[in-house]
Amino acid sequence: MRFVSTRESSLAVSLSEALTAGLAPDGGLYLPQQWPTALPDLPASAPLPELAAALLAPFFDEDPLAGQLASICTEALALPAPVVPTRDPGLYLLELFHGPTAAFKDFAARFLAACFARLRRPDDAELTILVATSGDTGGAVAAAFHRRPGFRVVVLYPDGKVSPRQAHQLGAFGDNVHTYRVAGTFDDCQAMVKAAFADEALRAAMPLSSANSISLGRLLPQMSYYAAASLRWQIVHGRPANFVIPTGNLGNALACVLARRLGLPIGDVVLATNANRVLPDLLHTGEYRPKPSIATLANAMDVGVPSNLERLRALYPDIADLRAQVSADSVSDDELRAVMQTSEARYGHVVCPHTAAAIRVVERRRDAGCERPWIAVATAHPAKFDSVVEPCVGHPVPVPPALAEILQRPSQAQPMASTADALKAALHALR
Ligand SMILES: *Cc1c(COP(=O)(O)O)cnc(C)c1O
Repeated sequence: MRFVSTRESSLAVSLSEALTAGLAPDGGLYLPQQWPTALPDLPASAPLPELAAALLAPFFDEDPLAGQLASICTEALALPAPVVPTRDPGLYLLELFHGPTAAFKDFAARFLAACFARLRRPDDAELTILVATSGDTGGAVAAAFHRRPGFRVVVLYPDGKVSPRQAHQLGAFGDNVHTYRVAGTFDDCQAMVKAAFADEALRAAMPLSSANSISLGRLLPQMSYYAAASLRWQIVHGRPANFVIPTGNLGNALACVLARRLGLPIGDVVLATNANRVLPDLLHTGEYRPKPSIATLANAMDVGVPSNLERLRALYPDIADLRAQVSADSVSDDELRAVMQTSEARYGHVVCPHTAAAIRVVERRRDAGCERPWIAVATAHPAKFDSVVEPCVGHPVPVPPALAEILQRPSQAQPMASTADALKAALHALR
């Protein structure tokens, strides 16, 4: 399969080229040039790596990585992704937080790292992966590349704007992972990374790549857990699965839309946002107005300019078509708190603030008379956000073993001013 930019569609590249480049040369995002016309035969009850290899085979067709797809999936995607019932028969949770850093970003970061490791040639210079993170991506990417020969990770996070445990995790890797706490916002961190990529002299001195949520290498593997969940749902319930997905940069939800486009039995896809309501406003008014991000309790979704929207709009340029694909609802901090306070008694699950946004959106639909069951996507483990969750639930939240192991390590992040020059100086100092 070949891939083209959302902007200039004349230049088609291979999957490997699209993975390596991250962004297309014209600044657009890569999408398949042609969509597979039929769904491959999928082993619905096989483990996720096997199902993912079958699902992604058409996208790897004719690429140098094609022969290694099965081993990439085995290495990266052997993580549990169960759909679990709750005490309410109308609400299920798709738990995506059983990986090493306790958030769904592990699936995609590990997949991207497995691809990059196989694309590397022995005499290649060390590759620096630059990541700006609103909290979870940086940890997942650091874990996926930690101690991988030939790679170095540089993580930038907004100081004071991630949860204390996220901050600890981000600084706890060491070795080939370098973590900086930036005196600024997530948008500042993203702008610094962009400026580094635009700096030809820097890139000539130091090969750079990125692992942010616009990478095809993150989008593709995320389709696999929606495929697994929806196929099994169809077998048990005899109808398509409806998902509500906590949304920031729109990477996770877009993967669900793409899985449905491939023919998987997925019904409604609803985006749950926090007070950063650019997407609900777009669907409501038809106008796209990016805004500076607002800090909320669901900090991994504090995004004012959702980067994957460009892909969704390229696929569905007409607003009526877009509305037929997705709907979106914004949830306030007060509502997030209320869900976190009540979810244990009502559903039998303690949830993170992002998952709480999805649950609140389900509750609204049910209050409005909807009787269909919904799957809310649980994007992170509540223990990762203990400082927000524990005051709501009134007791400590047990920490999963992989997260506990990371939290035991010492943690260290260097301070950094929020300027392109500060990042450049730090990168030169690493050489
Ligand atoms: C990143 C993240 C989100 C938002 O996902 P997008 O793909 O950016 O829309 C939601 N919840 C958690 C816990 C996250 O880490």
